[in-house]
Amino acid sequence: MNFELSDEQRAIQQLVHDLCIESVEPRAAEIDAKGEFPWDIKDLFARHDILGIPFPPEYGGVSGSALAVVLAIEEISKVCANSSLILSVQSLGSLPIVLGGTDEQKRRFLPPLASGEKLAAYALTEPGSGSDAGGMRTHAVRHGDTYVLNGSKTFITGGSVADTIVVFARTDRDGQGEARDISAFVVEKMMPGFRVGKLEKKLGIRGSPTAQLFFEDVAIPAANLLGPEGEGFKLAMRVLDHSRPGIAAQALGIAEGAFAVARRYAAQRKQFGKPINEFQGIQFMLADMATAIEAARMLTYAAGDALDRRLKTITVTSSMAKVFASDVAMRVTTDAVQVLGGYGYLRDFPVERMMRDAKITQIYEGTNEIQRLVIARELLKEAG
Ligand SMILES: Cc1cc2nc3c(=O)[nH]c(=O)nc-3n(C[C@H](O)[C@H](O)[C@H](O)COP(=O)(O)OP(=O)(O)OC[C@H]3O[C@@H](n4cnc5c(N)ncnc54)[C@H](O)[C@@H]3O)c2cc1C
Repeated sequence: MNFELSDEQRAIQQLVHDLCIESVEPRAAEIDAKGEFPWDIKDLFARHDILGIPFPPEYGGVSGSALAVVLAIEEISKVCANSSLILSVQSLGSLPIVLGGTDEQKRRFLPPLASGEKLAAYALTEPGSGSDAGGMRTHAVRHGDTYVLNGSKTFITGGSVADTIVVFARTDRDGQGEARDISAFVVEKMMPGFRVGKLEKKLGIRGSPTAQLFFEDVAIPAANLLGPEGEGFKLAMRVLDHSRPGIAAQALGIAEGAFAVARRYAAQRKQFGKPINEFQGIQFMLADMATAIEAARMLTYAAGDALDRRLKTITVTSSMAKVFASDVAMRVTTDAVQVLGGYGYLRDFPVERMMRDAKITQIYEGTNEIQRLVIARELLKEAG
């Protein structure tokens, strides 16, 4: 099935595909095994303008199309989910500035992110507030032209390697108020009082650092406040509407990568005197995997397209794409391991890594339970 792509989107898809086959796929197993951030891949992406895809040309980027970002993340994820996170988090961490920043803030912060000279991160989650992000405790108090930030964040992707971090914090007086009292700030890693804590040891995406961040009396210029004070929670949720298709694309790519390995293996592996793809049990599994992937692709591209067209349905489309594609990724990667039998369970083949990497897509940027709540809420609104 084909989705209507522009010439620019097709060119980006092809460029990323070729680069990933040549230079990313050979590194994927090692990145996972070492569990280290792949600076070489980050530099490769920067050199080829891949980190510029989420940004429009006026801010130093090469596209700004959400569907182009989706296509690029999908291609990278087919071979290496860890590497796809370099692009998706560059987009996630920049989106609060793109969506909520003034022109001056965009000119100040975006060009070094578009070029890949600097890396971005998005800091919403805290130890006590995950799904209930509005319950955060980190707070900022204004003194003249400065906000003083105190608190901590947890699970921040790229938090230890980022230069520019958008941090959400309470700006009400007692730090106990409503979600409407949250504001968004750009914190730069050199600011005194900012500290990176421990890096988490994880099941998958092991080459993507997940960090605790601490803020002790960090003085942030008021010029780094994004949007009006107290509007940060709305901004955080708008950002997730825009970034969830990227998680769907990551899930889709992982599923496609695992399916390709399983299909190839099933053609070569012989048991009972014939290739295992001649057994109907294996054929049905491959057929179900391919069907689910096709449906996930259509929904994911539709979500990227809806963002580019600024459709009112983006909240629900983004959540549907994220929940569906991530559930597909988990099922397809698990079945891919099954098709490879005992060999699927070994590190010698990439499907066990893909299965471990797929799991996170059901959890971050809002768990799939939260996506279902979002979808239901929008449906109920429509029903009046
Ligand atoms: C590897 C990794 C990277 C991450 N990167 C980032 C990042 O870059 N920036 C960032 O801000 N955060 C990040 N996160 C945080 C992530 O978004 C949260 O982990 C996620 O939102 C869930 O929050 P929690 O872990 O506190 O789980 P909880 O909110 O404690 O949820 C526990 C369980 O309860 C369910 N649950 C909770 N509330 C409801 C409800 N109302 N109805 C039904 N079920 C419910 C959940 O679905 C889940 O199954 C990352 C997390 C991980 C693991």
